[in-house]
Amino acid sequence: MVNTTIKTTKSQEIFAAAQSLMPGGVNSPVRAFKSVGGQPIVFDRVKGAYIWDVDGNEYIDYVGTWGPAICGHTNPEVIAALHSALEKGTSFGAPSVLENVLAEMVIDAVPSIEMVRFVNSGTEACMAVLRLMRAFTKRDKIIKFEGCYHGHADMFLVKAGSGVATLGLPDSPGVPKSVTSDTLTAPFNDLEAVKVLFEQNRDQIAGVILEPVVGNAGFVTPDAGFLEGLRELTHEHGALLVFDEVMTGFRISYGGAQEKFGVTPDLTTLGKIIGGGLPVGAYGGRRDIMSMVAPAGPMYQAGTLSGNPLAMTAGIKTLELLQKPGTYDYLEQITKKLADGLLQVARETGHDACGGNISGMFGMFFTSGPVHNYEDAKASDTAKFGRFHRGMLEHGIYLAPSQFEAGFTSIAHTPEDIERTLQAALYVMSTL
Ligand SMILES: *Cc1c(COP(=O)(O)O)cnc(C)c1O
Repeated sequence: MVNTTIKTTKSQEIFAAAQSLMPGGVNSPVRAFKSVGGQPIVFDRVKGAYIWDVDGNEYIDYVGTWGPAICGHTNPEVIAALHSALEKGTSFGAPSVLENVLAEMVIDAVPSIEMVRFVNSGTEACMAVLRLMRAFTKRDKIIKFEGCYHGHADMFLVKAGSGVATLGLPDSPGVPKSVTSDTLTAPFNDLEAVKVLFEQNRDQIAGVILEPVVGNAGFVTPDAGFLEGLRELTHEHGALLVFDEVMTGFRISYGGAQEKFGVTPDLTTLGKIIGGGLPVGAYGGRRDIMSMVAPAGPMYQAGTLSGNPLAMTAGIKTLELLQKPGTYDYLEQITKKLADGLLQVARETGHDACGGNISGMFGMFFTSGPVHNYEDAKASDTAKFGRFHRGMLEHGIYLAPSQFEAGFTSIAHTPEDIERTLQAALYVMSTL
């Protein structure tokens, strides 16, 4: 168990070769381990709660391909369903009954969703929902929160610092100021700041979009009254409330954060879990708003592979498995044991830490906290997190390679996996 040095020869070879083939050797930045240092491991295969790398090392996985693997990797029922779907074709580009089935499941599950449109990624869902917010309200400005991620579309790439909180300065070269100038930002959990933005921009704000539980700034929960307050403010100002539940949907409860917290937005974006490991996104909400989407209405949005039969199949089977009684109680039980255990280990070994979980989503910051927003999260000792991450990896535990990413469990994780993880954490934290 305490194998402090693992063999990574093949991982290193493959990742080195990848450098000249793909920017940074990856197809999505965080995979490159830049924020924790060291080299990423290169995956060979995944099963249940486990990953094997190309050098044959086994890890307990707490990334779960960033959330979708909630039923465990390569769940036999999902794989069997995919095998039979595969025989019938990989893409239709035309209606199929599978789309109806998944649409009905999503509509039944998610309180705000009366109609849904499937797309191919969370980014695409958020891009489309923004267009819809603007089309429906005939207003251009939106409010987002610092540290919330809504995919990589231009309009969302704004992380305005404290002094320029309302200026909407772009976060990446290549994003024109003109595209982000209508993106206003506020600190998460700061209702007062949102109120001020509404007052300063009367009748101009199309809506507010947020991760109801933040997973892209670490794990940050909404303070009591925050979601309710946003619901009231948006009503008051004729603006729409949009929950980006790409991560939290079917994760923190079957009906997502809106079911968990009892606050119903006007529109919702989904992704990750609803594709069961295949590329899917979705946006949906009130029927009168969704009726604006082409061809029912004038707001254009389309997709060659949207509603793809393999993706629909994996999503349907995954949601079916999640409907089994006890799923979310089990996730809560094991994940709470993990999150509480990590904090206890940190205390025992003399490290400042805070964190928590909701069902199968968790996080831990190396700061005493409490963390209410991205500013608070940034007080974390990221260098220490990097050392912790590397140590855990060497002890067979695969954590998200950034202090600012939430972690995920699955129904395939056993209490023994959690126990092994906490043992590794105790060893690693006592060496930090
Ligand atoms: C992952 C994520 C996205 C983007 O989804 P992709 O499928 O990576 O494009 C958007 N919003 C949230 C909250 C996410 O976690």
